[in-house]
Amino acid sequence: MTRAATYLDHNASSPLRPEAREAVLAALDLVGNPSSVHAHGRALRNLVETGRRQVAELAGAEPKQVVFTGSATEAITQAILGGARAFSAGAVALSAGEHAAVGKAAEATGLPVWTISLDGEGRIDLDQLTVTLQKAEEQGLTLLVALHWVNNETGVIQPIERINALVGPTRHTLFIDAVQAFGKRPLEFATSAPDMMAVSGHKIGAPAGIGALLVKSHADTVRLIPGGGQEQGRRGGTESATLIAAFGAAAAANDYDAETLSALVQRVEAGLRKLAPDVVIFGQGANRIGNVTNFAVPGVGNATAMMALDLMGLSVSSGSACSSGKVGASHVLAAMGVPRDLANCALRVSFGWNSTMADADAFLAGFETLLSRQKRAGKAA
Ligand code: PLP
Repeated sequence: MTRAATYLDHNASSPLRPEAREAVLAALDLVGNPSSVHAHGRALRNLVETGRRQVAELAGAEPKQVVFTGSATEAITQAILGGARAFSAGAVALSAGEHAAVGKAAEATGLPVWTISLDGEGRIDLDQLTVTLQKAEEQGLTLLVALHWVNNETGVIQPIERINALVGPTRHTLFIDAVQAFGKRPLEFATSAPDMMAVSGHKIGAPAGIGALLVKSHADTVRLIPGGGQEQGRRGGTESATLIAAFGAAAAANDYDAETLSALVQRVEAGLRKLAPDVVIFGQGANRIGNVTNFAVPGVGNATAMMALDLMGLSVSSGSACSSGKVGASHVLAAMGVPRDLANCALRVSFGWNSTMADADAFLAGFETLLSRQKRAGKAA
């Protein structure tokens, strides 16, 4: 497959950072198991612990609070399945805008799942969160509350301080899916309310296949894979020193430039408004992270638009892409009350560490071509 000329899908996976690539290559030359006490093993242990310190630093966590996993999905599953067990939860509370990793793990607990709505701009309904906490009190249940910080589809930033203030002082467990916030917002894990958070390597320029669960010491009993006692018994299985070194290198190199990236998004959104005055930008009334825009032009279906843009060398995503690679209906947009017809036109453009204004302009040029072709074919609304 030829490499797409313009990559506009950083929220799905960010390109490998050169620092992470170098770390991978260097680690591949080492031999052994990080748990071995001999010199070979100690060299690998050194990579693992350096990576732990680097990831911890970017997350505002203590190194001992970082448990490496094979993905954020695994970290989320550990937090929810393991957390429900460790804290004898009677129900899981989540929002309607969670990533499938959260929804599926909640389902897998077999416990009642209490869903908190999103408003029309994609924000978690905090009044409903308050009611949910009251309901748990009335029923004498301990809740596992699992909420995201930044939405992967819309970029909407959830009111994390208020969530922390509502759930933090209670006896309930708070897990935050911080995958799309990591490297973009200061997580301050050690000094903030959440008991656990999940982060992912490939969203910040490490290869896929490495993530971490951040855990406070009182949540150290939250387990999923018992195995051979690695990660202080919190996640069994020989650590991948190679991927951990890359994760650490990507974290250390992180230089998220909010100003530049939001200028790219603003350029795209302004260009879209000019090209298609009826464009709808999802979550535009909310506080958004600034590297992503999710929009729909009525009548321009996302499945065909993505294919046409792909042929022009532009890699974008629909609001959601299921693992089969097909375009699926977005549960996030549905939860925001977006009509199905419009949601089927949703496209997501997301920028990251190597994005430039030329990428934004290439997208706009491609989209203009797409619209004029559709107009010619009489398909545009
Ligand atoms: N949570 C959010 C918000 C995400 O965006 C993603 C990735 O798309 C995940 C969880 C899953 O991360 P991973 O691919 O590391 O399993």
